[in-house]
Amino acid sequence: MPPTANAAALIRHTVLLRPAIITTAFSKTFPMTTSRAVSRSCTVIPKVTSRTMASSCSSSSKGGLEKLPSSPVRLLRTTSSVRLWRRPHLLDHRTVALVPTMGALHSGHLSLIRRAARENHHVVVSIYVNPAQFGISEDLDSYPQTWDSDVAQLVKLDRELADDGDNLGRISAVFAPSTKEMYPGGFPGQEVDSKGSFVTITPVGELLEGRTRPTFFRGVATVCMKLFNVVQPERVYFGQKDVQQTVVIKRLVRDFLMPIEVVVGRTERDEKDGLALSSRNVYLGERRRQQATVLYRALKAAEGEYKRGGRKREGILRAAEGVVEGVKREEEGKGVEERVRFEVDYISLADPDTMEEIEEVDPARGGILSGAIKMLPVEKAREGEDLGHSGGPAVRLIDNIILEPEGGKEE
Ligand code: AMP
Repeated sequence: MPPTANAAALIRHTVLLRPAIITTAFSKTFPMTTSRAVSRSCTVIPKVTSRTMASSCSSSSKGGLEKLPSSPVRLLRTTSSVRLWRRPHLLDHRTVALVPTMGALHSGHLSLIRRAARENHHVVVSIYVNPAQFGISEDLDSYPQTWDSDVAQLVKLDRELADDGDNLGRISAVFAPSTKEMYPGGFPGQEVDSKGSFVTITPVGELLEGRTRPTFFRGVATVCMKLFNVVQPERVYFGQKDVQQTVVIKRLVRDFLMPIEVVVGRTERDEKDGLALSSRNVYLGERRRQQATVLYRALKAAEGEYKRGGRKREGILRAAEGVVEGVKREEEGKGVEERVRFEVDYISLADPDTMEEIEEVDPARGGILSGAIKMLPVEKAREGEDLGHSGGPAVRLIDNIILEPEGGKEE
């Protein structure tokens, strides 16, 4: 987990920070998930290959083709199988969309898939937890792995897409590779100074999230380059939830001359309190979940200042700071069995194209308000209290709001 900052650090970032930050990732351990799932739920498989694993546990393989259970959705595990699947669609001029994910699917992922199916003949959903985008002290080992639930959600969504005549396509395939498949030369490691074939997108990848998580965007850009090369999609779909990631991917596609359109889907939020959906929310537990909206509320306050005509960094970020300080004071007044503690990593006001910090919003360009907070573990659990996945470790949450240019659309 990345470093954090408290109120003082917030002020430091607010006042001193010129640079910016953000991230997200698809890495994690689909390979680990698979082997664990296999050892738990399958009987003896003498020589375990990905094909036999999936066939035995969670997919069907009629005619030698692996499919998700009771569905026409192909399950592809190797780059060669994706290429074989892809070729006829290229020759038939059918558009293929890719939605990269790390699994632990929720409505945010599903909204991207829905949009991809509306706009393309075929949708490929990748599920791969890419270790290269996790720092060595981050949550790779505990990252939620929910293969069965992911498959069930995809099968259900595919049926829904098939029944809805407004879609051009549906989910044609899930690409769930192993790390061996994705890193054929051997996995280069998670360290900052790991040697290997990496894609780096700087300076944007070094700002904000990249400052706190120095290997994150290198891992994201590298795995996306690989996924794009394998699937060769016409369009790729990413969530605004990870706004800096969308900027990095747009640069990747532009700078490496890739014939791909990057589509950004809006952030899906909890209907009741607006918390951005995230696979990591399962770590929170009920108590911390209640205050996890502090970042969103702070960003909304800053947005409110912009909407009232405020253009200066100081005034916009002061509004956010006021919310953070208010919640901190409120929590400090509670006992250890009630209170929630969190640290602000950063709250940023940045240029929409470069993610560099700005002193003033140019209303013709707008800006990006973004932030990261670390929800600390509870100090003392109440009897029977649900602390969240993996016993409620520290959870880093990110969020953002686009300050639309004057005349532009609202979020
Ligand atoms: P992840 O599995 O977390 O790597 O996310 C896969 C994709 O889903 C990324 O493009 C994310 O930005 C996107 N995503 C994650 N959460 C949300 C959300 N709440 N709303 C929309 N897209 C999201």
